[in-house]
Amino acid sequence: MHRPFHLETPADADARRAVAPVLCYPTGTLPVPDLAVYANARERAQRIGAVTVPAREGRAFRVPAGGFFRITCTEGPQVGDLNLFSAADPQERFYSGKTRALHGTHLRVGDRMWSVFPWLRPMATLVADTLGWYGTDPYGGRVHDVIGTRCDPYTHWLLSGGGQYHHCCHSNLTRALGDAGVEGAEALVHDVLNVFMCTGFTETGQYFMKASPVRPGDYLEFFAEIELLGVLSACPGGDCSAEHSSDAAACHPLEVEIWETPAEALAGWVPPVANGYDRTHGR
Ligand SMILES: [Zn+2]
Repeated sequence: MHRPFHLETPADADARRAVAPVLCYPTGTLPVPDLAVYANARERAQRIGAVTVPAREGRAFRVPAGGFFRITCTEGPQVGDLNLFSAADPQERFYSGKTRALHGTHLRVGDRMWSVFPWLRPMATLVADTLGWYGTDPYGGRVHDVIGTRCDPYTHWLLSGGGQYHHCCHSNLTRALGDAGVEGAEALVHDVLNVFMCTGFTETGQYFMKASPVRPGDYLEFFAEIELLGVLSACPGGDCSAEHSSDAAACHPLEVEIWETPAEALAGWVPPVANGYDRTHGR
């Protein structure tokens, strides 16, 4: 019988499966951030502003190089979708995929948010996380992933039979970036850091989410390695326990606070230079 798509399991299948994995990117040669340098800077940093991101909306904020920004859950469990751009050139933006390849599926203190090619340099370093205790839950869930993309109205249209919804994170980020004066905002919005979101993979490899363990008072704090333009969306999914792309979930605001560090308090910090590859690609 002709079975065009039927493939036989090879005799050595178990032996091939038994090959041990190696890390894609052994990060032993990555520069390791000196958290003591950041702690010293933080002690002398001055709070210079705050932005409230309303529920199901996005807002932009700016952080000076060498400064800090903190995202706080203030009223109720809420997930945030974060995009970062170089304030000097918004073409330089966060690269979720390479950050995941370098650090893993979920970010922890000491990990960096890396920018796209050709810059590929740290934009921000995670310095504090009140959910750092969460670790890995019995389902394999962890917090602050760089797996997901961002909820968006195109996928919603596709899966809902033509529904139109305008407060997905993609749209919230697009409006906030446009309001910050960036032209062509939608094309610059990119895959996010899912702040406070709890996610993992099922045994069949499907991406899952579950109610975020975040509570009012929890925060995630970053050091800005370059001058940043950030945009944050308070996801319409709320704590992402059930659904997004609708107004059904309980949704709460998020707070972003910004600190500036005096130059003399930045001793020991070396601002990251743009990547040194010569960009000839062998030609
Ligand atoms: Zn969202």
